[in-house]
Amino acid sequence: MNRQIVILFGPPGAGKGTQAELLSEKLNLFNFETSKILEEKFKEIQKLKEDSLKRFVEVAGEKFDVLKEKQLWLDGKLCSPPFVTLLIKEKIRKLYEEGENIIFSGSPRTIYEAEEELPLLEKLYGKENIKVFYIEISPEQTIYRNSNRKICELMRHSILFDKETKDLTICPLDGSKLLKRELDTPETIKVRIKEFQDRTYPIIDVYKKRNIVVNKIKGEQSISNVFKDILAIIR
Ligand SMILES: [Zn+2]
Repeated sequence: MNRQIVILFGPPGAGKGTQAELLSEKLNLFNFETSKILEEKFKEIQKLKEDSLKRFVEVAGEKFDVLKEKQLWLDGKLCSPPFVTLLIKEKIRKLYEEGENIIFSGSPRTIYEAEEELPLLEKLYGKENIKVFYIEISPEQTIYRNSNRKICELMRHSILFDKETKDLTICPLDGSKLLKRELDTPETIKVRIKEFQDRTYPIIDVYKKRNIVVNKIKGEQSISNVFKDILAIIR
């Protein structure tokens, strides 16, 4: 069986989520969404009492409070890397056993995550089967696109804001209503951009160190051209 891992990274608003949707369909990849994994965990914990011990998860001797993690997430900040990484690694192993190939568009988000996840992915899938793409857009575009981003009511598809999508009122994938994301206030957008610059962008050095090529893609082109550029490199 052909094994394949695709990792997309880039600033918020680069269109990673949209490209991940398209590529997952085209190449039959499992679309790995960290936010969905976090949401599942937070929902699970919501049902528990405040004082429940299940509120805590332990990673390498350190305890993490899931409710605190949820608050960070609501504030637009990154959750604690050991907490997120634990959930992600569990899911990767499960997907591998199920025979899935994976596309990532939200992970790894920190150096810690990258250093934990990449060895696991290399071991399971083989280094030669990992393709990484950096989707580049300017800081001005990042702010513009994030301030106008919408999300669909039914599946929470994130709809990138650009010339092609600015007048859309229903989700092109499932026909449900498009809403503005509650998380997208000017403050949280600024926080997310800074988090990307300070904590996610430096991962580029981790890829270099592990001899994984980072393919640069021009993210300010149309969605279909970005898609074509990525596909051309994968094939
Ligand atoms: Zn949708």
